[in-house]
Amino acid sequence: EQVDIAHVIQEVFEQLEKIAQTKRTFLKMRVDRPGPIWVKADQQRIMQVMTNLIENAVKYGNENGKVYVSLEEDKKHVLIAVRDDGPGIPPEHLSRIFERFYRVEKSRSKDRGGTGLGLAIVKHILNAHKAKITVMSKLEKGTTFRFKLERME
Ligand code: ATP
Ligand code: MG
Repeated sequence: EQVDIAHVIQEVFEQLEKIAQTKRTFLKMRVDRPGPIWVKADQQRIMQVMTNLIENAVKYGNENGKVYVSLEEDKKHVLIAVRDDGPGIPPEHLSRIFERFYRVEKSRSKDRGGTGLGLAIVKHILNAHKAKITVMSKLEKGTTFRFKLERME
């Protein structure tokens, strides 16, 4: 299936507009060129992936924080990155956040709802797309999730 990933991200931004407004989060997509960016993916599942990642970035990010979703094309792939400038994830938790029901510091996350399934679903869906997701995080600086999808043209 052929999916315009730039369009998917715009739709996710619209869906999350309300919650982003309440937190005054700045949501921005960065692309090299305007127009559709076609990838080989399942539309609904990739929408779910983008929703879970961007929702986390807003939910765990700071008030007045910034969330950037960037798309970079190379010959065969589109590299997708979701970056926030929030509190970051402590290194000792980083390897476990993709596990089902895993949440960092219950005290910190519990007032923000959620079940701890979002990232497990993300990983599962990307597995089915033969895509690996990586995370880089620095305390007080923020968190970036990255993965690649196959290009279509
Ligand atoms: P759900 O997604 O099911 O509503 P959740 O957001 O708690 O619940 P995940 O999306 O799997 O579950 O995330 C797991 C944990 O990783 C979160 O509870 C949070 O502590 C941490 N986390 C995820 N994304 C970020 C982020 N961008 N910045 C800081 N912490 C994060
Ligand atoms: Mg989540």
